[in-house]
Amino acid sequence: MTKSGWIFRIGLVFGWGILIAAWAGPRVPHVVIISMDGAAPWVVRHTPMPVVHQLFREGAATWDAETTRPTVTLPSHTSMLTGVGPARHGITWNDWRPTNGVVQVPTIFAAAKQTGLTTAMFVGKKKLLHLLQPGTVDHFDYAGRAWSAAPPAAPGPFNEARLDHDGQPVTQARAVARRAADFLQQRKPNLCFIHLGDPDVVGHKYGWGSPEQRRSLQDVDAAVEEILRSLRQAGLRSRTVVLITADHGGQGKGHSAGTLEDLKIPWIAWGFGVRSGHRLSSVIHTCDTAATALWLLEAAPLVRLEGRPVREAFTFNAPSPTADSGPTQAQASLQAQ
Ligand SMILES: [Zn+2]
Repeated sequence: MTKSGWIFRIGLVFGWGILIAAWAGPRVPHVVIISMDGAAPWVVRHTPMPVVHQLFREGAATWDAETTRPTVTLPSHTSMLTGVGPARHGITWNDWRPTNGVVQVPTIFAAAKQTGLTTAMFVGKKKLLHLLQPGTVDHFDYAGRAWSAAPPAAPGPFNEARLDHDGQPVTQARAVARRAADFLQQRKPNLCFIHLGDPDVVGHKYGWGSPEQRRSLQDVDAAVEEILRSLRQAGLRSRTVVLITADHGGQGKGHSAGTLEDLKIPWIAWGFGVRSGHRLSSVIHTCDTAATALWLLEAAPLVRLEGRPVREAFTFNAPSPTADSGPTQAQASLQAQ
């Protein structure tokens, strides 16, 4: 073979290698979505929540994102995790109705599984079982047990007999976070959703912005800290994007009136490839959370999404996570805690 022939062949091999490397993995190998149920920005902003506030400052964030109408838990979480509004996903009720089955629009977990990724959900409210499409969530935890179809034999620590409005007990945020943290460390799922129910349940009982609700938000803050600690201990901190948001806000003792206080939710992106200290200027809807997660994981949506990836929050076009030189300075300060 001539010299130029070898150079051509070597060039082909290198070129192919670069192509393979570009296709080899997602933008980000791990995405963790944390939903703080009922965390109204007008309350969160003025509650001592050092971890969440630090993530807000260090990441790309806004207090001005919006949830679905109706501004209630199950339709909203369904939009957050399918990327389409209630008119399309059809989950218009807000309680656990076993005979209604699961959502018919594919969730982001279905799309992630289709791409060969691993998935997990840790939830405080039973009605989120309506999002558990068969074969899409490798580990679904409600009340301390992995769920497929059978209820847990021994319920986990419920929220001091706090019941959801449908009479189902709500697991404490700290207990949900502890199990999620253990799982993240041991199993390192690609896509993990964690639902922290306390602020909503306490808000319904004592009021949004009440001292009791602020204390429950501080529990949520501690729960977020535990989740972040587990990411660090698992060596995932610099390869993960954490998205923190809520399903709705609230005012008085409710959130279903559709007022601005009900509609507004926080939206925080933090971690690998996230712009540092960036205030998001685009209008963000809860459907964008689903689109962003799939975009980050490079998992193709299985339906046309109404949400769009919040590209503004990220620095990269498509870097390889293996090229990551470690956490940013801002992230390092949090890791040092
Ligand atoms: Zn809710």
